[in-house]
Amino acid sequence: MNDLTTTQMRKIIHVDMDAFYASVEQRDNPQFRGLPLAVGGSAARGVVAAASYEARAFGVHSAMPSVTAKRKCPDLIFVPPRFDVYKVVSQQIREIFAEYTSLIEPLSLDEAYLDVTVNLKGMEIATEIALEIRTKIKQVTGLNASAGISYNKFLAKIASDLNKPNGQAVITPKKGPGFVEGLPVKKFHGVGPATAERMRKYGIETGLDLKSKSLIFLQEHFGKSGPYFYGIARGIDERQVNPDRIRKSVGAEDTFVEDIDDLECATAELKPLAEKVWRCCEAQGVSGKTVTVKIKYSDFTQVTRSRTGILPFTNMADILDAASGLLATVYPFKRSVRLLGVTLSSMTNDQPPDANEEQPQLDLNLQQ
Ligand SMILES: [Mg+2]
Repeated sequence: MNDLTTTQMRKIIHVDMDAFYASVEQRDNPQFRGLPLAVGGSAARGVVAAASYEARAFGVHSAMPSVTAKRKCPDLIFVPPRFDVYKVVSQQIREIFAEYTSLIEPLSLDEAYLDVTVNLKGMEIATEIALEIRTKIKQVTGLNASAGISYNKFLAKIASDLNKPNGQAVITPKKGPGFVEGLPVKKFHGVGPATAERMRKYGIETGLDLKSKSLIFLQEHFGKSGPYFYGIARGIDERQVNPDRIRKSVGAEDTFVEDIDDLECATAELKPLAEKVWRCCEAQGVSGKTVTVKIKYSDFTQVTRSRTGILPFTNMADILDAASGLLATVYPFKRSVRLLGVTLSSMTNDQPPDANEEQPQLDLNLQQ
């Protein structure tokens, strides 16, 4: 049996709660039901962490600055997040998953991959498992979930979006490769806005365009992600559902259209990266104590600089300050800067620290 056959025989479910934080708030505050609601701060620098479907109808979505959201929807109700409550609900849904399989990989509080190829109930049909799980989630929590069922993680995640909210969809091994061809690459998990823009410059807008590129081309232009992109363009994704996955870090990076020489310009590029990292942390209810800046030069050599604080970061501005300080330590640049990255690690989410977690890096650790 070759690898491809093995992959095609797996049964993976991606379960994703619908408008999770917002739905919890509407569940617990009946006066907000049926109204446009955003979870997040309404202050000048606030960001929407989650939007109810009523708010989405006005174009409000998560990661949107609260001021913009308020402009799009003047009646928008802002509710501060209650992560303690979301964590309790998250635990309830994980207990339901655990009735079916021990191969559960949470992506965030409201999303997880389940490998049900061999499951604890001896059920043959993954769509039936998904339906049962969604029904139980509704009974126990009062909330709606959507699910995607397929033979790998990449396609299961795409499928969970197809019949949202409160629906599920299957992508079969026969349909998988053709399905990917027709999708815009910017919808692919693992292709962020910056990558999508770079792909567009190479004429890659759909799965079919991506499929037309060689492995060598993709490795040359997208580095370590190249083989992943090559696979998913063909509906192939070998990644296992990893139940021990602990989010070790949250990072963002960007390759510039033109290389940068001066410190001021380079520092300005750190801001969108720090913002992206912090929004991701907020959305997942986590933070970290270590900031790392990665600098890749025009000759493709790179250095990283890290700093670890005593407490986890609590806002974007402090992450940006730390990152800017680290960048300044490598100025003047030995060559023009081609790429910058900002990563937060030594993560915590109020859970007891994991015994396996890596030790924080030393202050100003330099890795070539
Ligand atoms: Mg969700």
